[in-house]
Amino acid sequence: MKTYGPVPSWRLGNSLGVDLVEAPEGYDKVCSFDCVYCQLGHRVFRMSSPKKMEISEAEFEELRKKIAQTSPDYITFSGEGEPTLNLNLGYAAKRIRAITNVPLAVLTNASFVHLPRVRDGLNACDLVIAKIDAPNQELFERINQPYHGLTIKSIVQNLKKIRTKIAIQTLLFSYDGLTNADETAINGLIDIYKELNCSKPITIYLGTAYRPTDFKGLEAISERQLKSIADNISSQLGIEVIYYQGAEPRMIARKLTDKELRKDILELLKRRPCTLKDISSRFGNVDVSGVLESLIKEGILGNRIQNAEKFYFLIKPIILKKLNKKLR
Ligand code: SF4
Repeated sequence: MKTYGPVPSWRLGNSLGVDLVEAPEGYDKVCSFDCVYCQLGHRVFRMSSPKKMEISEAEFEELRKKIAQTSPDYITFSGEGEPTLNLNLGYAAKRIRAITNVPLAVLTNASFVHLPRVRDGLNACDLVIAKIDAPNQELFERINQPYHGLTIKSIVQNLKKIRTKIAIQTLLFSYDGLTNADETAINGLIDIYKELNCSKPITIYLGTAYRPTDFKGLEAISERQLKSIADNISSQLGIEVIYYQGAEPRMIARKLTDKELRKDILELLKRRPCTLKDISSRFGNVDVSGVLESLIKEGILGNRIQNAEKFYFLIKPIILKKLNKKLR
């Protein structure tokens, strides 16, 4: 188990990340999907079923210290691996509850929600944020590129069995003739939301592909279109729809040494490309441009313009593990 962040999240505020499944060297992620828009990269270590991965006392202690230092709004199971791939999710949630009252969220692709042990783990959290990007099997396979045999129908059916609070997260985009943001796709998604909302009230988070990924040509939809889709869903279903409005929240952070700042910036960028504003707000609005410039000169970071904004990203994720050893 590894703690990272906090990272600014437009859904969860100041979110302290907990990674239960770390990617092996040479891979960007451990997942049962390979979504076209994935920000982690596409060197995927595929796991077809969950297993127990041990968590040490030292790792819980590190998390306890991070909570005390950063006062997060949420503790979120997320990161380089699909959290439900670790059958110790429920155990981790119970142990964290004994340390803090900070609410626990889990970001999941819901691919293993048919397994009772996985549902037990999810139910141990306060909020399950489950990914549904596709209204049908064809788009599911093209957008999420799931492990063979997974079906969107089974995911929807089994999400109804979750007892804790559920939010459905959908990322809308278009790419090379593929889109889940046209009228037909949105109507199909609304049918799914309706079905889930009938069994228990849900919240919808609507995002778009505004960060750069390896898939050049991936296009975000406009804020205006997002708002109009959000209004449409909300008026049809009468449920809360929260959509991305162009900015991550400002965060208050403790003062960091240069060494800590450098290390935390790399950890943040390892998980997602960020703008200068995202990064500096993550660190209490300190000026991080000098650190970013020196990381670029060292060949560790790159930058790219996407949707009229400059994003910084990590060039070689493998370097990070070596750098972290040096910085410890
Ligand atoms: S489920 Fe998440 S981690 Fe897995 S491929 Fe999709 S976006 Fe990436």
